[in-house]
Amino acid sequence: MERFLVARTMSVTMNADLHCHSTVSDGWLEPQALVQRAAANGVELLALTDHDELGGIDAASEAAAALGLRLIAGVEISVSFGSETVHIVGLGIDHRCAVLVEALEALRSGREARARRMSDELARCGIAAAYEGARRFARNPALVSRAHFARHLVASGVMPNVKTVFDHYLARGKPGYVEHQWARLEDAVGWIRRAGGVAVVAHPARYRLSSAEMARLFDDFVAAGGEAVEVVSGAHSEDEMRRFATVARQRRLLASRASDFHGEGESPVDVGRCNPLPPDLTPVWSRL
Ligand code: AMP
Ligand code: MN
Ligand code: MN
Ligand code: MN
Repeated sequence: MERFLVARTMSVTMNADLHCHSTVSDGWLEPQALVQRAAANGVELLALTDHDELGGIDAASEAAAALGLRLIAGVEISVSFGSETVHIVGLGIDHRCAVLVEALEALRSGREARARRMSDELARCGIAAAYEGARRFARNPALVSRAHFARHLVASGVMPNVKTVFDHYLARGKPGYVEHQWARLEDAVGWIRRAGGVAVVAHPARYRLSSAEMARLFDDFVAAGGEAVEVVSGAHSEDEMRRFATVARQRRLLASRASDFHGEGESPVDVGRCNPLPPDLTPVWSRL
């Protein structure tokens, strides 16, 4: 019986969702409500991975304990890789680790000036007071993200939905996009490891990188001590899932399964409702 339980908790088919967001970054649900939604959707193992923030972990852990769901402390760190921004998820971290806590605080501190510059750029396109508008959608003043700007531009009728806001204004190369220096890849992986966690390349198919640049991203990530990749992601098509399943096999990386849920109507995949991992891959949760 015990052996069966162990096998079940490690199983590649268990409902693990190891990437989602709360109001502590740019999700729509408070940590408690997010955990409740995950439990209602049958999630057995959940990681809360707010952008550059750990402030929701305690509330999420409490809610998870009350519901009998296992919660993994996580984070999604913003990293500059050449001219692209990539996201590195940390799983199973000690969210009180001083090195990690201080590094994230420093990383967040650049966001306000960035948001004001974005607002200035949008003003040049005739969109006034976007910073104030975005702030109204951000529950955490230290974490104003492009998602909050997008919601404000939709609410004020500039664009019909969040996707079109990114396509017209907020994606790299568009008028409301400003260059920003995020963490270095090796630093982000290093902080995660110092905090006892496993580093994961988030939604790799979303990066605008050539094959050679993608290979270098994984080379540098592995060299820094990174161990896993999101094969199944709410941001991946089935073809993209197969592409990164191959990367996981070739590079012997652990595989993660991740909705990247932000909120209903905004995220393509609900929390816990992602496709299963290919059964031959080693799930990252075997290490958690
Ligand atoms: P930031 O960390 O401020 O650059 O904001 C990044 C966040 O914006 C992502 O985590 C998503 O929540 C959102 N985002 C980025 N690109 C898109 C897109 N094309 N469509 C919808 N949301 C996006
Ligand atoms: Mn986000
Ligand atoms: Mn991301
Ligand atoms: Mn995310």
